[in-house]
Amino acid sequence: MHKKLFIPGPVDVRPEVLAKMSTPMISHRGKAATELGKDVCTKLQKVFQTNNVIVLSTTSGSGLMESAIKCCTAKRAAVFSIGAFGDRWYKMAVANGVPADKFRAEDGQATDPKQVDEALATGKYDLVTITHNETSVGIMNPIKEIAEVVKKYPDVVFCVDTVSSMGGTSIPVDELGIDFCITSTQKCLGCPPGMSAASVSKKAYERAKTVPNRGLYLDIVEIYDKVVKDDKYQYPSTPSESHMFALQEELTYMLEVEGLENRYARHLEMAEYIRAWARKYFAIFSDERYLSPTLTTIKNTRGISVADLNKKLAEKGIEISNGYGDLKEKTFRISHMADMTMDDMKLVTSAIEEVLGL
Ligand SMILES: *Cc1c(COP(=O)(O)O)cnc(C)c1O
Repeated sequence: MHKKLFIPGPVDVRPEVLAKMSTPMISHRGKAATELGKDVCTKLQKVFQTNNVIVLSTTSGSGLMESAIKCCTAKRAAVFSIGAFGDRWYKMAVANGVPADKFRAEDGQATDPKQVDEALATGKYDLVTITHNETSVGIMNPIKEIAEVVKKYPDVVFCVDTVSSMGGTSIPVDELGIDFCITSTQKCLGCPPGMSAASVSKKAYERAKTVPNRGLYLDIVEIYDKVVKDDKYQYPSTPSESHMFALQEELTYMLEVEGLENRYARHLEMAEYIRAWARKYFAIFSDERYLSPTLTTIKNTRGISVADLNKKLAEKGIEISNGYGDLKEKTFRISHMADMTMDDMKLVTSAIEEVLGL
């Protein structure tokens, strides 16, 4: 039996989108590939609210996160982490021999724009990474305030992980001045896992050209050059065409059927419902001022076994997420992203109430 997914990615994919994954293949060097690539990238530019070049990568989002920090740090990276995915960005820097410092907030807290200012004011850093929406704790950072700070330092390349938020909330990439903005297909974009996308500014591209050891497969200069060359929207290696067909379908739906504003409003409505439910029966784990519109991390105030709860939910065809890493059993997570509905939210909460006898 398929379990309905309330985990923060991969998400359930609409049948129309799943069906597109079985579209017959085309030559990745032909005209049809250019048309497909162009359509997907143009639609993604609308979602990202950017005029920057959009690149696709046949890796999950982590691939482009690694590419960003490896290719665009010439001097030293300042990694602001508020949880597991911020920590991962730092690990990528270390694993690639990229000089970096990690600034870690406590779990459940947001990045403090003042701390970003203090770090960048030292002049030590030429790249900064921010997790827009930290999926381990359910916090959405005050990106506007952080962006205002970063704008004071024109030599700093501004990289933002929007893996679990792009498509679920408005992120005006150009207005915020984000140079390298990354997302994955399997979260708010409502597609299967296996592909990611990023907007790359001219500044990020020019910086990368000055960095000697960028690797090859995820060298952002190679990818960028190939995408823009002769307006062909092609890639150095063969991209997952299946994902591109699926993305095209979902992006068309987002832009032309549902509408982005409606999509964002739906995410918020679901978030508010889950938060209210969490406050009634448990408690919200994270700082209430910065709660994520795409998932909620709930504090296990009743000392239940989250693993057992999930086993019983499985019998009802439902799956939620345990806490991430050290937060396992101390918290659990319910996602409200991509194409979930209010009915889904009522389904999951009433199922939990029933299992726990609340
Ligand atoms: C899921 C997630 C990632 C990792 O993305 P993959 O596509 O699994 O590589 C990174 N950052 C955040 C915030 C995420 O939610």
